[in-house]
Parts: sequence; structure tokens; C-alpha cells
Amino acid sequence: MNIRLYNSLTKQKEEFKPIKKKEVGLYTCGPTVYDYPHIGNLMPYIIWDVLKRVLKINKYKIKHVMNLTDVGHLTSDADDGEDKLVKASRETGQNAWQIAEFFIKVFRNNLCSLNIDEPSKFLRVTDVIKEQIEFASILDKKGYLYKISDGMYFDTSKIKDYGKIANLANVELKEGARVAKNNEKKNPSDFAVWKFSPEDKIRDMEWESPWGLGFPGWHLECSVMSRLELGDTFDIHTGGMDHLTVHHPNEMAQSEAVTGKLQANYWLHNAFIKYEGAKMSKSKGTFVTLEELRAKGFSPMAFRFLILQNHYRKPLNFSLTSLQAAQNGLEAIIRAIAFYGKPKGNCKELEEEFYEAVSNDLNTAKGLAVLQKVIDSDYKNSAKLATIYKMNEVLGLRLEGLVKNAMDISDEAKIILEERLKARDNKDWERSDKLRDKLTALGVEVHDTPEGQKAIHIKF
Ligand code: AMP
Ligand code: ZN
Repeated sequence: MNIRLYNSLTKQKEEFKPIKKKEVGLYTCGPTVYDYPHIGNLMPYIIWDVLKRVLKINKYKIKHVMNLTDVGHLTSDADDGEDKLVKASRETGQNAWQIAEFFIKVFRNNLCSLNIDEPSKFLRVTDVIKEQIEFASILDKKGYLYKISDGMYFDTSKIKDYGKIANLANVELKEGARVAKNNEKKNPSDFAVWKFSPEDKIRDMEWESPWGLGFPGWHLECSVMSRLELGDTFDIHTGGMDHLTVHHPNEMAQSEAVTGKLQANYWLHNAFIKYEGAKMSKSKGTFVTLEELRAKGFSPMAFRFLILQNHYRKPLNFSLTSLQAAQNGLEAIIRAIAFYGKPKGNCKELEEEFYEAVSNDLNTAKGLAVLQKVIDSDYKNSAKLATIYKMNEVLGLRLEGLVKNAMDISDEAKIILEERLKARDNKDWERSDKLRDKLTALGVEVHDTPEGQKAIHIKF
């Protein structure tokens, strides 16, 4: 099956052609680990997980690298503002190392809850300080850096097609609108490669470098880690659409300045989750975490289902109502397939239609529509189930586990079910109905079918 992906670099959908025959080098911009991730932060990783699953069913071996920003990521898109980890440290009394450690665990737990396969390699910024200094030294020797009062900056005017991935014609305007202009910079789009530590404060995280005590600028890590693990040019680079205007142009500029080559061939970007009309954002306090959703009775799989119902390049308006609808939809699938028996055979045409959809720029919404088609089709139940479980290898909705869970009926409910059978044998419909109410109270649904009474207890 040909895989087609929308490439932000060429601004069109292209057939995916890897550098090596059956291997893919994939780099994903990871989180800043200073707080609980909100569901907007987690959503991209569901998408890239689906991308990996699509590649896997096409027999590609994947080397997937992700950074964990545990230092130096500032509170604004420009190179000023307080370091987020320092801010969290000031607010909690823990040092920056402890905060990063804790939130890396939280992030990994969230990935696990969402059934997201971990990358082949996680790298923390603090793991590759030496390599970042080496990389920045090359930039310095090649004449790309200049010094201003708070750090070493990259001169973007030295890159002929700087910002080719985005339309940066109005960058000067944007800078003025977003943050106070830094008058020391030569060009508005110039960015810090190495920041100096403030003279009056000792930072938890700071390192000696040829330019003095300080810490890396926040674009450096991705250029360095991707090159270290995947080479000068690799296949796919993924991240949020917010990275199109600042982070990715800067990453690309640094990498190309060092290697003279394009950093990655395909650049994929996810649109944002909106909440109450605006971008879900940690800094604005308008966010929801997975833990909060769980506390409200929602399953992480319902959230995954909701994300898959939308196309990843279209913004998604999140609400608890839409999440509830997604959870109901997932329950309906479990209810439909729980009594299908054993998987055997397949629904070939529909399987192909499904692979076609998800291979076409990850059209998971269409993929889910095909799944529904399977349920509604005339194929044998065993074939339907086999096909649905195969589709689920791409969707990652843990359907097998959820079905198994749903078939697990408590001893208490089993006794009531027995009694209900007897009541029905005696045509005592009133008692049968009362017993059904008892079962409902326990969360157990009972269905009277031609093959007899069947029970299911959907739980997440
Ligand atoms: P951060 O931890 O803020 O660096 O964000 C981690 C990832 O989540 C980045 O790739 C962002 O582009 C992405 N992201 C942040 N907010 C949202 C949102 N509301 N919707 C979708 N993606 C987001
Ligand atoms: Zn990055």
C-alpha cells in the first residue's frame, strides 16, 4: 500500500519514499516537562503513534527519537521570559532536576494510558549538553553566531531560504506583536543558540561552554539529537503546527548550516485542540489533563477515539459533550462485537478500504467509518471480528482487552443472571424485569437473544 503524507515543506500530499528501503527514521518534538501535560499536549503523540502503526503494517522498521525538554525552554516563543522549569521550581520548592524527573514519569504514564508506543529512544536535553556545545561550536566557527548581552544568536540572514517551511514574510510584525522587540538582534527572526546564565543568580541547570556559563537555546536540542540518532538527513519530522513559524525554521536553519543538507524529507504538523473557543494552553490556564478526565469517569481510550474521529490537520473543538459522545461510540462498538465469537477469516474489501483510508495522510475518521461499515455488513461475525482486530492494530483502541473486560461478569451478577433465567423459564416477567434492574444497577446489560440471555459489563 502506498502511504501518502501531507508534507509541510512542499505544502502538498506526497507519496512517502524512505531513504532506506524498509526503514524509517522518525523524529518527534517532545514535551517540556515542567507540569502535567494537558490533553492538547498529548494529542499529537496519538497521531504520531498512528503514523508509526501505519508504517509498521507496511513492514517498515522504525527508529523513532523524541526529545524531553528538561531545561532552557522559556515561557515565550522568543528567547526571553523565565525558564519554565525554573518557574516551576520557584513555585514548588523542588529543584529543576526533581521537577523534570517527576513530570517525565507523568508523561510516560500518560502515553501508556493512551496506548501510545514509546519511541525507540527518549533523549533528555541534559543528556546531550556536550553534543550541543560541539554543534554550536561548528555554527560559531562557520560564522553563523554573534554575541549579544544575553547569549549567542544565530544570524538567520545567512541562510538563503530561511523559513521556507512557513510563510515568514511578516515575521517582523509578528515579533513586535508577540513580545517586546529585542533591539540587539540583527534580524527579528534571529534566535538564541546559547543563553548566558544571569550574573546575579545561580541556576539549577547551567554548564560551562566556550561562550561562558549558560544553557542551550531551545531549538538546539532537536537539531542535535536528530542528527546524533538519525543522521544528517532522516525521513520524517513531526510536531505541532505552532512549530511551523519558529521552532522548525530554526531547527532546520541550524541543521542545514552545520551539514549543508536538508534535515528531514517529510515534515508533518498536527492542528490544535481548542477548548472554549481558544487554543488549549498551559500558560493561559485553559486546559484539561487526562487525570481530570479520568476522575470524571472518562476512559483514555475514549479520548483516543475522539482524536481519531477528527483529521489531524483540522483543529478540534474539545468539549466534555464531544468526549461523552466518543465514549458512547466506543461503547457501542464493544457492545456490537462482544458476542461475535472467535475471530476467523476477514472482510477483505473493507479491510483494503480501511488501509487505503489510513494510508492516505492518516485519515482515521474515514478508517473509523469503515470499521462501522464492517459492523453493519453481511459478513460472518467471525470474519468481522478478525478484520476489526486487524484494523485495531492501526487504531490502537485496545478493543480486544475492552471486549475481554466486558465479558468478565462478577459472581454477584452471575447469581442474579441465574435467577433471571429461572424467572423467565417460569414466565415470571415481572420478576425477570426486576432482576434486570438489579443488573443495570451493577452496570451489567442483559440482552435476550435467539441464543438465550447474554450479559455484558462494559468497563474501562
Ligand atoms: P509543549 O510541552 O508545550 O512543548 O507541547 C508538546 C507538544 O504539544 C508540542 O508538539 C505542541 O505543538 C503540542 N501542543 C501544545 N498545545 C497543543 C494543543 N492545544 N493542541 C494540540 N497540540 C498541542
Ligand atoms: Zn523540536
